Amino acid sequence: MPTSTPEIGYQDIFKSSPAAILIIDIDAPHYTILDANDAYCHATNTQRCDMIGTSVFGSFPANPTDEVSRNIEMTHYSFQQAIQTKQSHTMANYRYDIPIRGTGEFEERYWTTTNTPILDASGEVRYFIHSPANVTELYKLNQKEQAGIDALKNQRQQLYSSFMQAPLGICIISSGDLVVQMVNDSYLELVGKDRSELEHKGIWEAVPEAADAYAPILNQVINTGEPFFAKEHEVVFIRNGTPESLFLDFVYEPISHVAGENNAVMVIVIDVTDKVLARRRIEEAEERARLAIEAAEIGTFDFDPANDTVVTSERFNAIFGFDGTRTREEFRQRIHKEDLAARQAAHERAAETGKLFYEARLIWPDGSLHWIRIQADVYYNGGDKPYRMLGTVLDITEFKRLQQQKDDFISVASHELKTPMTSVKASMQLLERLIKTQPSSDKIPAFLEKANTSLTKMQHLVDALLNVSKIAAGQLALHKSDFVAADMANECCDHVRLMGTHELILTGDTRLQVYADKERIDQVVVNLVNNAVKYAPDSNKIFLHIAQTGKMAKISVQDFGRGIPPEKLPHLFERYYRVDASGVQFSGLGLGLYISAEIIERHGGQIGVNSVVGEGSTFWFTLPLSSS
Ligand code: ADP
Repeated sequence: MPTSTPEIGYQDIFKSSPAAILIIDIDAPHYTILDANDAYCHATNTQRCDMIGTSVFGSFPANPTDEVSRNIEMTHYSFQQAIQTKQSHTMANYRYDIPIRGTGEFEERYWTTTNTPILDASGEVRYFIHSPANVTELYKLNQKEQAGIDALKNQRQQLYSSFMQAPLGICIISSGDLVVQMVNDSYLELVGKDRSELEHKGIWEAVPEAADAYAPILNQVINTGEPFFAKEHEVVFIRNGTPESLFLDFVYEPISHVAGENNAVMVIVIDVTDKVLARRRIEEAEERARLAIEAAEIGTFDFDPANDTVVTSERFNAIFGFDGTRTREEFRQRIHKEDLAARQAAHERAAETGKLFYEARLIWPDGSLHWIRIQADVYYNGGDKPYRMLGTVLDITEFKRLQQQKDDFISVASHELKTPMTSVKASMQLLERLIKTQPSSDKIPAFLEKANTSLTKMQHLVDALLNVSKIAAGQLALHKSDFVAADMANECCDHVRLMGTHELILTGDTRLQVYADKERIDQVVVNLVNNAVKYAPDSNKIFLHIAQTGKMAKISVQDFGRGIPPEKLPHLFERYYRVDASGVQFSGLGLGLYISAEIIERHGGQIGVNSVVGEGSTFWFTLPLSSS
């Protein structure tokens, strides 16, 4: 076993070589260090004299890393390889920390070491050159690079899994052939397709139902490189074989990979169907409520008692006679002074009961009177103090007018019935007395006739009332036949001629035949002629004119009386309506024209009036002509 320094020459080169070199004896397991150069001592922080003659495994302090045994094993193996193969053997990138002189601390070092066998003249291995290179820097750099690569891989993986699991539908389509490169589950679910139907398939072959609308847009995005954004687009997809309409927010985003060239488009889709439908339902409900409120001509208000402010609808303002919104005080000033106390009381009650209700009159600046009905619910803010009042206002002027008309009618009807009844009663009493005292008195027939006239009057009144009930119940039966209108007009008004107060002049087409219920039409003409007599007492002519207009016969009754003010004309044919509501001057129930209008309308005809105050009125109606 050689123990002395080998005679290898090149001593100077060995010593000053920049590569760290140990010369080691091949005898296992000791592997004695025969020599070490300066570069070695420097690299490993050791003293040459300390090492020479010691075992390579013993000359270094305990390596603090837990890789000691692995390193020893690896070095053994490397030595043996070098001996056996007679070739250099390299141990790459292993850790072996070296002591920091005088501190007891170690410095982390990585090495790549070559064990090169040196052969003698007979070709036998005699020594090793053990040459470790400090690769710490390189190793760390590699590690860093690896860490970077790993992080990138990791990121990519994370990105991919968030892509796959994203609640948004994502699909990446290559720009050239429009083939789907990647697609996530949400997208598949959205378009109602399996992965196999979409992935690596042409997008429009996979989802043909959307091609018409969106292929041009996709092409445009590819051509221009500009993204396309869509909000709440309605798209129909065939899902499970049935077309389903979806509302989608989506974007076509070009992705450029190479030098700004777009070679894919990322489609990101959010299904907003539920949101859109929910919003539509709310909008529809609001619209329905608004239409109902509008149709009912209801004004609405939202009153804030704490600040004494009110928000009102257009209809509310209009009912109060304003063309825009006003302060609460301005609205209040329109209320009739006599109704302010009732309003105040209603508000005080509402604060307790939670319900506001009152009716009041408004006086507009033009002096016109309007009735309103206010209704509201009070809302309390936790305590008992009202903080909000939401309510409605209705214009009930017409309702009040009709109510008034009905009240008037009842008093008029009672009065109308009472007069002939009193007359009949008086005649009967006188007759009773006469029959007892002077049974053959010549006054008896006159009293009988008077009683009879009064009874006829009563009968007419009762007939009119019965007609109204029949009309209301839809039971006014018609028995139609063909007859000559002029004949009927002539016959029905003999009583007027007999009275002698008015001259009845029949003009026009006296041969015109109509198809109607003769008795009912008779009733209409009598009513119009009687009205002419009644409301034109000072003029002595009444014209009855018959003419053909198209397929109808038009029959007019013209008087030269007082006429009717234009604002009253629209109401003339209403039930109980009388121009002079007090009924002081003329008796009547306000039913004649209403019944006439019903009869004519049931015949498919029209009824109307032309009237000029001070000149007279022409009431007219039309009837179907006889077809024969
Ligand atoms: P009535 O005569 O019983 O009051 P009508 O229905 O026949 O009821 O008439 C309604 C109202 O129309 C009358 O109260 C009257 O004021 C007005 N009127 C009807 N005919 C005439 C007329 N020829 N001239 C003026 N006013 C009329």
